[in-house]
Amino acid sequence: MKCEIISVGTELLMGQTENTNAGALARELFPLGIGVYYQTAVGDNEERLRGVFSQALQRSALIILTGGLGPTEDDLTRETVARVLGLPLVKNKEWEKRLKDFFHRFKRPMAVQNLRQTMVPQGGKILPNDRGTAPGIYLDLQAGRGPVVVLLPGPPSEMLPLFREQVLPLLRAKLQEKGDLAILQSKVLRIIGLGESDLSERIAVLLKNQDNPTLAPLAKAGEVHLRITARGSTAEVVQTLLADKARELREILGDYIYGEDEEELELAVARLLWAKGLTLALAESCSGGLLSHRLTNVPGSSDYLLAGLVTYSNAAKMQLLGVEQATLERAGAVSAAVAEQMAAGVRRLCRADIGVGITGIAGPGGGTPEKPVGLTYLALEAENFKFSRRYEYWGGRQVVKERASQTALYLLWLYLRGKLRPKN
Ligand code: AMP
Ligand code: MG
Repeated sequence: MKCEIISVGTELLMGQTENTNAGALARELFPLGIGVYYQTAVGDNEERLRGVFSQALQRSALIILTGGLGPTEDDLTRETVARVLGLPLVKNKEWEKRLKDFFHRFKRPMAVQNLRQTMVPQGGKILPNDRGTAPGIYLDLQAGRGPVVVLLPGPPSEMLPLFREQVLPLLRAKLQEKGDLAILQSKVLRIIGLGESDLSERIAVLLKNQDNPTLAPLAKAGEVHLRITARGSTAEVVQTLLADKARELREILGDYIYGEDEEELELAVARLLWAKGLTLALAESCSGGLLSHRLTNVPGSSDYLLAGLVTYSNAAKMQLLGVEQATLERAGAVSAAVAEQMAAGVRRLCRADIGVGITGIAGPGGGTPEKPVGLTYLALEAENFKFSRRYEYWGGRQVVKERASQTALYLLWLYLRGKLRPKN
């Protein structure tokens, strides 16, 4: 069933309101095996909405429109859809009563304009809305042989519950009737230490011959996600397809996979720290505590995290961590030597098994040709183990902070699995 989503509202085109409805609907449709082929945003303009909706009727079996069902002049989805379909608008007495009761209950006068919200294109089914005054409308055209058209209110807090509670069951029944009901499910393998193109090369044969499951690599900040999507008639069939494909991929990529689905890198690190019973202390400068933040997002982090210090100034680096003034003067605050002394200092101070030091230039100011914005040094120290390395991140302050914390977690992940080579 090819689906198309039309988001109506000038505010969406102007960027005043983010069009979250389209994505939210697509995510809801996915498990039913309903693919979204087009998403359009269009302003509160009758002619352009007509154009977009007419085109959708030519190419899609399911058309979902959100927005423009309000009581005001600029809300014209209901009227435009009816006009394009050549259907008269008829008053729905039940909804009229519900609206009148609603206004009565809140002791507010009902505007005549609200009566527009009781009108339904002939043959349409009202989808009662408990959270607002505009009901949804479900139209199964040509007695079930034509496309399905669904109208939903714009506010996400009304749209989504209405869709889940009332539209999904209707769609499921429709698919069942047509023998099209399939189950679709995804699994994500989270990969680090391998770029998107490297990854694609390693699994080129699998990518080329994909059918069911399908494979999709997605580049993320400092990692790559590989999404496996399987389709089948029962949950068991789908689970087996996913598990088999994941196993096949693990044989090729095992060393680079740190987690699945929603498992973040900090969780992978936490699990290793728990398994080994090791503790951690962090000294952060340019990352501003983001590494500590991420590691404390894991419930139970007090088991392994002893402290995270944000030592921003030279004075703090010296007084709290024992970084040497001579080193700061000779190598500068952003240097391998200072990162190493930060890691060593915080480890000593907290008597931790592992110390991490991060120092860098987050920008936008402060860069020089030798030390550009984005230059960052990371260091890790443990019993009989020292590591430090230079990195250069490209982007704004936020990017530098995110990448520095991501790299630090990656180094910890490698170290805890015995895969980080010490500095000689
Ligand atoms: P409407 O039903 O067109 O009166 O929309 C009412 C409100 O819903 C708008 O002012 C927006 O704040 C919100 N809204 C409408 N469409 C969307 C959308 N596609 N995504 C997120 N919010 C929306
Ligand atoms: Mg609107």
